Amino acid sequence: MTLIDSNPDSDLAPLEFAVTRNLAAKSPAQREEILAAPGFGVHFTDHMVDICWSVRGGWHRPRVSPYGPISLDPAAAVLHYGQEIFEGIKAYRHADGSVHTFRPDQNARRLQRSARRLALPELPAPYFIQALTELIAADGAWVPSGEDQSLYLRPFMFAKEAFLGVRPAHKVAFYVIASPAGAYFKGGVQPVSIWLSEDYARAGKGGTGAAKTGGNYAASLLPQSEAYENECDQVVFLDADRNVEELGGMNIVFVHKDGTLVTPQSDSILEGITRDSILQLAVDRGHKVEGRDVSLTEWREGVASGDIVEVFACGTAAVVTPIGLLKGRGFFDEQPTGTLALELRQELTDIQYGRAEDKHGWLLRLDA
Ligand SMILES: *Cc1c(COP(=O)(O)O)cnc(C)c1O
Repeated sequence: MTLIDSNPDSDLAPLEFAVTRNLAAKSPAQREEILAAPGFGVHFTDHMVDICWSVRGGWHRPRVSPYGPISLDPAAAVLHYGQEIFEGIKAYRHADGSVHTFRPDQNARRLQRSARRLALPELPAPYFIQALTELIAADGAWVPSGEDQSLYLRPFMFAKEAFLGVRPAHKVAFYVIASPAGAYFKGGVQPVSIWLSEDYARAGKGGTGAAKTGGNYAASLLPQSEAYENECDQVVFLDADRNVEELGGMNIVFVHKDGTLVTPQSDSILEGITRDSILQLAVDRGHKVEGRDVSLTEWREGVASGDIVEVFACGTAAVVTPIGLLKGRGFFDEQPTGTLALELRQELTDIQYGRAEDKHGWLLRLDA
Protein backbone atom coordinates (compact mmCIF):
# COMPACT_ATOMS: atom_id res chain seq x y z
CA MET A 1 0.00 0.00 0.00
CA THR A 2 1.04 3.59 -0.53
CA LEU A 3 0.70 4.58 3.10
CA ILE A 4 4.32 4.25 4.14
CA ASP A 5 5.78 6.14 1.17
CA SER A 6 3.38 9.05 1.12
CA ASN A 7 3.25 9.42 4.86
CA PRO A 8 5.18 12.18 6.59
CA ASP A 9 5.09 10.02 9.75
CA SER A 10 6.92 7.19 8.02
CA ASP A 11 10.21 7.78 9.81
CA LEU A 12 8.54 7.17 13.20
CA ALA A 13 9.90 4.16 15.03
CA PRO A 14 7.21 1.53 15.65
CA LEU A 15 5.73 1.57 19.14
CA GLU A 16 6.63 -1.18 21.60
CA PHE A 17 3.32 -2.46 22.92
CA ALA A 18 3.34 -4.02 26.39
CA VAL A 19 1.15 -7.10 26.11
CA THR A 20 -0.82 -8.48 29.06
CA ARG A 21 -2.67 -11.64 28.13
CA ASN A 22 -6.24 -12.03 29.31
CA LEU A 23 -6.11 -15.01 31.70
CA ALA A 24 -9.92 -15.14 31.69
CA ALA A 25 -10.15 -15.18 27.88
CA LYS A 26 -13.14 -17.01 26.41
CA SER A 27 -12.47 -20.66 25.62
CA PRO A 28 -12.41 -21.67 21.94
CA ALA A 29 -15.82 -23.30 22.46
CA GLN A 30 -17.32 -20.14 24.02
CA ARG A 31 -15.84 -18.03 21.24
CA GLU A 32 -17.20 -20.29 18.51
CA GLU A 33 -20.63 -20.11 20.09
CA ILE A 34 -20.53 -16.29 19.93
CA LEU A 35 -19.16 -16.30 16.37
CA ALA A 36 -21.99 -18.56 15.24
CA ALA A 37 -24.45 -15.68 15.87
CA PRO A 38 -22.46 -12.54 16.71
CA GLY A 39 -25.14 -9.87 16.11
CA PHE A 40 -23.66 -6.36 16.01
CA GLY A 41 -21.83 -4.54 18.78
CA VAL A 42 -22.90 -6.82 21.63
CA HIS A 43 -19.91 -9.15 22.08
CA PHE A 44 -16.33 -7.99 22.48
CA THR A 45 -13.02 -9.78 22.05
CA ASP A 46 -10.63 -10.72 24.87
CA HIS A 47 -8.26 -7.78 24.51
CA MET A 48 -8.13 -4.07 23.82
CA VAL A 49 -5.39 -1.68 22.79
CA ASP A 50 -4.71 1.72 24.26
CA ILE A 51 -2.18 4.49 23.87
CA CYS A 52 -1.98 7.52 26.19
CA TRP A 53 -1.29 11.06 25.15
CA SER A 54 -0.31 14.05 27.24
CA VAL A 55 0.89 17.54 26.41
CA ARG A 56 4.24 16.81 28.05
CA GLY A 57 4.76 13.19 27.00
CA GLY A 58 3.11 12.99 23.57
CA TRP A 59 1.96 9.46 22.63
CA HIS A 60 3.17 6.96 25.21
CA ARG A 61 2.46 3.70 27.09
CA PRO A 62 1.08 1.62 24.22
CA ARG A 63 -0.58 -1.49 25.63
CA VAL A 64 -2.54 -4.57 24.73
CA SER A 65 -4.52 -5.57 27.80
CA PRO A 66 -7.49 -7.70 28.81
CA TYR A 67 -10.76 -6.19 27.60
CA GLY A 68 -12.54 -4.56 30.50
CA PRO A 69 -13.92 -1.42 32.11
CA ILE A 70 -11.98 1.84 31.85
CA SER A 71 -11.51 3.75 35.06
CA LEU A 72 -12.14 7.48 34.67
CA ASP A 73 -12.12 10.41 37.03
CA PRO A 74 -15.68 11.78 37.30
CA ALA A 75 -14.26 15.14 36.20
CA ALA A 76 -12.83 13.66 32.97
CA ALA A 77 -13.50 16.29 30.31
CA VAL A 78 -15.17 13.88 27.87
CA LEU A 79 -18.02 13.28 30.33
CA HIS A 80 -18.81 16.99 30.46
CA TYR A 81 -17.87 18.53 27.14
CA GLY A 82 -17.98 15.60 24.73
CA GLN A 83 -14.43 15.87 23.41
CA GLU A 84 -14.45 12.50 21.65
CA ILE A 85 -13.94 11.00 18.18
CA PHE A 86 -14.07 7.50 16.74
CA GLU A 87 -13.63 5.32 13.68
CA GLY A 88 -15.24 2.18 12.31
CA ILE A 89 -13.35 -0.34 10.20
CA LYS A 90 -13.63 -4.08 9.66
CA ALA A 91 -11.28 -7.07 9.53
CA TYR A 92 -12.22 -9.74 7.00
CA ARG A 93 -11.20 -13.39 6.95
CA HIS A 94 -10.25 -14.67 3.50
CA ALA A 95 -10.76 -18.25 2.32
CA ASP A 96 -7.09 -19.06 3.00
CA GLY A 97 -7.54 -18.01 6.65
CA SER A 98 -5.59 -14.73 6.36
CA VAL A 99 -7.02 -11.54 7.92
CA HIS A 100 -7.22 -8.25 6.02
CA THR A 101 -8.57 -4.79 6.57
CA PHE A 102 -9.75 -2.23 4.05
CA ARG A 103 -8.10 1.17 3.38
CA PRO A 104 -6.91 1.73 6.97
CA ASP A 105 -4.79 4.65 5.77
CA GLN A 106 -8.06 6.45 4.99
CA ASN A 107 -9.48 5.80 8.46
CA ALA A 108 -6.19 6.95 10.00
CA ARG A 109 -6.34 10.19 8.01
CA ARG A 110 -9.99 10.76 8.86
CA LEU A 111 -9.29 10.22 12.55
CA GLN A 112 -6.65 12.93 12.23
CA ARG A 113 -9.12 15.31 10.57
CA SER A 114 -11.70 14.56 13.27
CA ALA A 115 -9.02 15.14 15.91
CA ARG A 116 -8.17 18.56 14.47
CA ARG A 117 -11.82 19.62 14.59
CA LEU A 118 -12.32 18.39 18.16
CA ALA A 119 -8.99 19.89 19.33
CA LEU A 120 -7.61 16.43 20.10
CA PRO A 121 -4.06 15.32 19.27
CA GLU A 122 -3.48 13.70 15.86
CA LEU A 123 -2.47 10.06 16.13
CA PRO A 124 0.24 9.30 13.54
CA ALA A 125 -1.15 6.96 10.86
CA PRO A 126 1.50 4.25 11.46
CA TYR A 127 0.46 4.10 15.14
CA PHE A 128 -3.19 3.75 14.11
CA ILE A 129 -2.34 0.84 11.83
CA GLN A 130 -0.04 -0.74 14.39
CA ALA A 131 -2.85 -0.59 16.97
CA LEU A 132 -5.07 -2.63 14.61
CA THR A 133 -2.27 -5.12 13.91
CA GLU A 134 -1.56 -5.57 17.63
CA LEU A 135 -5.20 -6.22 18.41
CA ILE A 136 -5.43 -8.82 15.63
CA ALA A 137 -2.20 -10.42 16.90
CA ALA A 138 -3.98 -10.94 20.24
CA ASP A 139 -7.52 -11.61 19.03
CA GLY A 140 -7.17 -12.85 15.43
CA ALA A 141 -9.18 -15.96 16.31
CA TRP A 142 -12.18 -13.65 16.77
CA VAL A 143 -12.36 -12.77 13.07
CA PRO A 144 -15.34 -14.88 11.95
CA SER A 145 -15.30 -16.85 8.72
CA GLY A 146 -19.03 -17.05 7.94
CA GLU A 147 -20.56 -15.37 4.92
CA ASP A 148 -20.68 -11.57 5.26
CA GLN A 149 -19.25 -11.79 8.78
CA SER A 150 -16.37 -9.63 9.96
CA LEU A 151 -14.64 -8.32 13.06
CA TYR A 152 -15.73 -4.71 13.53
CA LEU A 153 -12.87 -2.61 14.89
CA ARG A 154 -13.73 0.49 16.87
CA PRO A 155 -10.85 2.92 17.40
CA PHE A 156 -11.78 5.90 19.60
CA MET A 157 -10.13 8.81 21.38
CA PHE A 158 -11.35 10.94 24.26
CA ALA A 159 -10.36 13.67 26.71
CA LYS A 160 -9.56 12.01 30.02
CA GLU A 161 -8.03 14.91 31.90
CA ALA A 162 -9.84 15.61 35.19
CA PHE A 163 -10.56 19.31 34.71
CA LEU A 164 -13.80 21.23 34.43
CA GLY A 165 -12.34 24.31 32.77
CA VAL A 166 -13.25 24.58 29.12
CA ARG A 167 -10.20 24.08 26.94
CA PRO A 168 -8.67 21.18 24.97
CA ALA A 169 -7.71 18.45 27.43
CA HIS A 170 -4.06 17.95 28.32
CA LYS A 171 -4.55 14.20 28.75
CA VAL A 172 -6.15 12.00 26.14
CA ALA A 173 -6.60 8.27 25.60
CA PHE A 174 -6.79 6.34 22.34
CA TYR A 175 -8.33 2.85 22.38
CA VAL A 176 -9.23 0.13 19.94
CA ILE A 177 -11.85 -2.48 20.82
CA ALA A 178 -13.26 -5.16 18.54
CA SER A 179 -16.66 -6.76 18.16
CA PRO A 180 -17.55 -9.67 15.88
CA ALA A 181 -20.29 -8.73 13.42
CA GLY A 182 -22.76 -11.00 11.66
CA ALA A 183 -24.31 -10.40 8.27
CA TYR A 184 -26.08 -7.02 8.52
CA PHE A 185 -29.05 -8.21 6.52
CA LYS A 186 -30.33 -11.65 7.39
CA GLY A 187 -31.87 -13.28 4.37
CA GLY A 188 -30.49 -10.86 1.77
CA VAL A 189 -30.16 -7.10 1.45
CA GLN A 190 -33.50 -5.36 2.07
CA PRO A 191 -34.32 -1.80 0.90
CA VAL A 192 -34.69 0.60 3.84
CA SER A 193 -37.30 3.27 4.42
CA ILE A 194 -36.14 6.79 5.23
CA TRP A 195 -37.80 9.47 7.31
CA LEU A 196 -37.13 13.08 6.28
CA SER A 197 -36.15 15.06 9.37
CA GLU A 198 -37.59 18.57 9.03
CA ASP A 199 -37.38 19.77 12.63
CA TYR A 200 -33.87 18.64 13.46
CA ALA A 201 -30.52 19.11 11.77
CA ARG A 202 -27.54 16.85 12.23
CA ALA A 203 -24.89 19.48 11.56
CA GLY A 204 -24.62 23.12 10.65
CA LYS A 205 -22.24 25.14 8.54
CA GLY A 206 -18.94 25.36 10.40
CA GLY A 207 -20.05 22.71 12.89
CA THR A 208 -18.72 19.21 13.44
CA GLY A 209 -20.66 17.39 10.72
CA ALA A 210 -17.52 16.31 8.87
CA ALA A 211 -15.93 14.87 12.03
CA LYS A 212 -16.71 11.39 13.31
CA THR A 213 -17.65 12.45 16.81
CA GLY A 214 -20.14 11.09 19.31
CA GLY A 215 -21.95 14.42 19.59
CA ASN A 216 -23.24 14.14 16.03
CA TYR A 217 -24.72 10.78 16.93
CA ALA A 218 -26.22 12.13 20.15
CA ALA A 219 -27.92 14.82 18.06
CA SER A 220 -29.30 12.19 15.66
CA LEU A 221 -31.00 10.01 18.28
CA LEU A 222 -34.17 12.07 18.75
CA PRO A 223 -34.82 12.42 14.99
CA GLN A 224 -34.03 8.69 14.67
CA SER A 225 -36.78 7.96 17.23
CA GLU A 226 -39.10 10.12 15.15
CA ALA A 227 -38.21 7.91 12.18
CA TYR A 228 -39.18 4.80 14.17
CA GLU A 229 -42.46 6.43 15.25
CA ASN A 230 -43.17 6.93 11.57
CA GLU A 231 -42.30 3.32 10.80
CA CYS A 232 -39.08 4.20 9.02
CA ASP A 233 -35.69 2.51 9.47
CA GLN A 234 -33.45 5.55 9.12
CA VAL A 235 -33.52 9.33 9.03
CA VAL A 236 -32.18 11.68 6.34
CA PHE A 237 -31.04 15.19 7.22
CA LEU A 238 -31.19 18.42 5.24
CA ASP A 239 -29.00 21.49 5.57
CA ALA A 240 -30.35 25.00 6.17
CA ASP A 241 -30.88 25.46 2.41
CA ARG A 242 -32.88 22.21 2.18
CA ASN A 243 -30.08 20.34 0.46
CA VAL A 244 -29.80 16.65 1.27
CA GLU A 245 -26.93 15.82 3.62
CA GLU A 246 -26.83 12.18 4.72
CA LEU A 247 -28.43 9.63 7.01
CA GLY A 248 -27.47 9.39 10.69
CA GLY A 249 -24.46 7.22 9.90
CA MET A 250 -24.47 6.58 6.16
CA ASN A 251 -23.86 8.64 3.02
CA ILE A 252 -26.41 8.83 0.23
CA VAL A 253 -25.97 8.36 -3.52
CA PHE A 254 -28.42 9.02 -6.38
CA VAL A 255 -28.18 7.12 -9.66
CA HIS A 256 -29.44 9.03 -12.69
CA LYS A 257 -30.94 7.63 -15.87
CA ASP A 258 -27.83 8.55 -17.89
CA GLY A 259 -25.67 6.47 -15.50
CA THR A 260 -24.27 9.42 -13.50
CA LEU A 261 -23.90 8.89 -9.77
CA VAL A 262 -24.49 12.04 -7.71
CA THR A 263 -23.71 12.42 -4.02
CA PRO A 264 -24.14 15.46 -1.79
CA GLN A 265 -20.92 17.29 -1.07
CA SER A 266 -20.56 19.85 1.68
CA ASP A 267 -18.26 20.50 4.60
CA SER A 268 -20.91 19.31 7.05
CA ILE A 269 -21.09 15.76 5.67
CA LEU A 270 -18.93 12.91 6.93
CA GLU A 271 -16.76 11.69 4.08
CA GLY A 272 -17.42 7.97 3.98
CA ILE A 273 -14.72 5.57 2.86
CA THR A 274 -17.39 3.14 1.62
CA ARG A 275 -18.87 5.91 -0.54
CA ASP A 276 -15.47 6.83 -1.93
CA SER A 277 -14.74 3.18 -2.76
CA ILE A 278 -18.16 2.52 -4.33
CA LEU A 279 -17.83 5.66 -6.47
CA GLN A 280 -14.36 4.54 -7.57
CA LEU A 281 -15.76 1.15 -8.62
CA ALA A 282 -18.49 2.98 -10.54
CA VAL A 283 -15.88 5.14 -12.30
CA ASP A 284 -13.97 1.94 -13.18
CA ARG A 285 -17.15 0.73 -14.90
CA GLY A 286 -17.39 3.95 -16.91
CA HIS A 287 -19.95 5.81 -14.82
CA LYS A 288 -19.69 9.55 -14.31
CA VAL A 289 -19.59 10.67 -10.68
CA GLU A 290 -20.53 14.08 -9.26
CA GLY A 291 -20.18 15.52 -5.76
CA ARG A 292 -22.42 18.61 -5.47
CA ASP A 293 -25.46 20.08 -3.76
CA VAL A 294 -28.59 17.95 -4.15
CA SER A 295 -31.76 19.73 -3.10
CA LEU A 296 -34.75 17.88 -1.67
CA THR A 297 -36.71 19.21 -4.67
CA GLU A 298 -34.21 17.72 -7.14
CA TRP A 299 -34.52 14.36 -5.37
CA ARG A 300 -38.35 14.30 -5.30
CA GLU A 301 -38.78 15.67 -8.84
CA GLY A 302 -36.05 13.36 -10.16
CA VAL A 303 -37.86 10.34 -8.78
CA ALA A 304 -41.21 11.58 -10.09
CA SER A 305 -39.86 12.22 -13.61
CA GLY A 306 -37.82 9.03 -13.80
CA ASP A 307 -34.52 10.91 -14.04
CA ILE A 308 -33.38 9.30 -10.78
CA VAL A 309 -33.45 5.52 -11.19
CA GLU A 310 -31.91 4.33 -7.92
CA VAL A 311 -31.07 5.74 -4.49
CA PHE A 312 -28.82 4.02 -1.97
CA ALA A 313 -27.03 4.59 1.31
CA CYS A 314 -23.54 3.37 2.16
CA GLY A 315 -21.28 2.95 5.17
CA THR A 316 -18.94 0.38 6.73
CA ALA A 317 -21.54 -1.40 8.87
CA ALA A 318 -24.21 -2.13 6.22
CA VAL A 319 -21.93 -1.58 3.17
CA VAL A 320 -24.63 -0.58 0.61
CA THR A 321 -28.36 -0.39 1.27
CA PRO A 322 -30.94 0.47 -1.38
CA ILE A 323 -33.47 3.09 -0.27
CA GLY A 324 -36.99 1.91 -0.99
CA LEU A 325 -39.06 4.73 0.45
CA LEU A 326 -38.76 8.40 1.40
CA LYS A 327 -41.41 9.46 3.86
CA GLY A 328 -41.98 12.95 5.23
CA ARG A 329 -44.69 14.93 6.88
CA GLY A 330 -47.56 14.57 4.43
CA PHE A 331 -45.84 12.63 1.67
CA PHE A 332 -44.74 9.15 0.83
CA ASP A 333 -42.40 8.70 -2.19
CA GLU A 334 -41.68 5.15 -3.29
CA GLN A 335 -38.13 5.01 -4.61
CA PRO A 336 -37.19 3.30 -7.85
CA THR A 337 -35.00 0.24 -7.36
CA GLY A 338 -32.41 -0.86 -9.86
CA THR A 339 -29.54 -3.31 -9.78
CA LEU A 340 -26.48 -1.04 -9.68
CA ALA A 341 -26.37 -0.60 -5.89
CA LEU A 342 -26.34 -4.32 -5.27
CA GLU A 343 -23.84 -4.98 -8.06
CA LEU A 344 -21.44 -2.42 -6.58
CA ARG A 345 -22.03 -3.89 -3.12
CA GLN A 346 -21.11 -7.34 -4.43
CA GLU A 347 -18.03 -6.00 -6.18
CA LEU A 348 -16.83 -4.21 -3.06
CA THR A 349 -17.40 -7.14 -0.71
CA ASP A 350 -15.71 -9.48 -3.22
CA ILE A 351 -12.59 -7.33 -2.89
CA GLN A 352 -12.88 -7.10 0.90
CA TYR A 353 -13.26 -10.88 1.30
CA GLY A 354 -10.49 -11.67 -1.19
CA ARG A 355 -12.83 -13.13 -3.83
CA ALA A 356 -11.87 -10.54 -6.47
CA GLU A 357 -8.63 -8.87 -7.45
CA ASP A 358 -7.72 -5.86 -5.30
CA LYS A 359 -6.84 -3.57 -8.24
CA HIS A 360 -6.58 -0.42 -6.16
CA GLY A 361 -4.37 -1.88 -3.42
CA TRP A 362 -7.06 -1.25 -0.80
CA LEU A 363 -6.42 -4.29 1.40
CA LEU A 364 -3.87 -4.49 4.17
CA ARG A 365 -3.05 -7.84 5.70
CA LEU A 366 -3.28 -7.63 9.48
CA ASP A 367 -2.14 -11.06 10.61
CA ALA A 368 1.36 -11.25 9.13
C1 LIG B 1 -18.95 6.66 9.64
C2 LIG B 1 -20.00 7.47 9.00
C3 LIG B 1 -20.37 7.30 7.66
C4 LIG B 1 -19.83 6.20 6.78
O1 LIG B 1 -18.43 6.22 6.65
P1 LIG B 1 -17.68 4.90 6.21
O2 LIG B 1 -16.25 5.30 6.20
O3 LIG B 1 -18.18 4.55 4.87
O4 LIG B 1 -18.00 3.86 7.22
C5 LIG B 1 -21.31 8.16 7.11
N1 LIG B 1 -21.89 9.13 7.87
C6 LIG B 1 -21.57 9.30 9.15
C7 LIG B 1 -22.23 10.38 9.93
C8 LIG B 1 -20.63 8.48 9.77
O5 LIG B 1 -20.33 8.67 11.06
